[in-house]
Amino acid sequence: MREFLKTKGYKMTPQRELVFRSFFELGEHVSVDELFDRVKRIDKAVGYSTVWRNLKLICEVGLAREVTVGDGVTRYDRVTRKPHGHFYCLNCKSLQEFDLNEIAGRLSKVATAEKFATESFKVEIEGVCQSCRDKENKKAKRTLSTSPKISRTKPSRQK
Ligand SMILES: [Zn+2]
Ligand SMILES: [Zn+2]
Repeated sequence: MREFLKTKGYKMTPQRELVFRSFFELGEHVSVDELFDRVKRIDKAVGYSTVWRNLKLICEVGLAREVTVGDGVTRYDRVTRKPHGHFYCLNCKSLQEFDLNEIAGRLSKVATAEKFATESFKVEIEGVCQSCRDKENKKAKRTLSTSPKISRTKPSRQK
């Protein structure tokens, strides 16, 4: 890593090393706040702006990319991971990943047809995740079964 940064014209400092290491340990969908929390636990002397600046640097040298979804909080993903899209749950704010390999090829074709030089893809889908939907369904069933009037009717499946 030290050598890699050198080739990009940056020096590795102890604080920088800590921020970098913490980021790669966290791995996926890291927000600046999360990273700051983790770094702070190890070294209280590292300030928020140092964390932020180094996170930007990680992106600049091509090791991570920004992921911005519904809530407007910017998160960061390592780029060494395979291309993936994100499902963003509007209810619990979780991010789930799906494989992008298959559609990436098709998106490429569309871009090529339009003579557009593609550098990267972003596919973000917003909705409600499975576990949130399950919770909703259970809640709905419980209300039905505790109510004697409609306990015999089969609850219609919620979509
Ligand atoms: Zn991701
Ligand atoms: Zn959810």
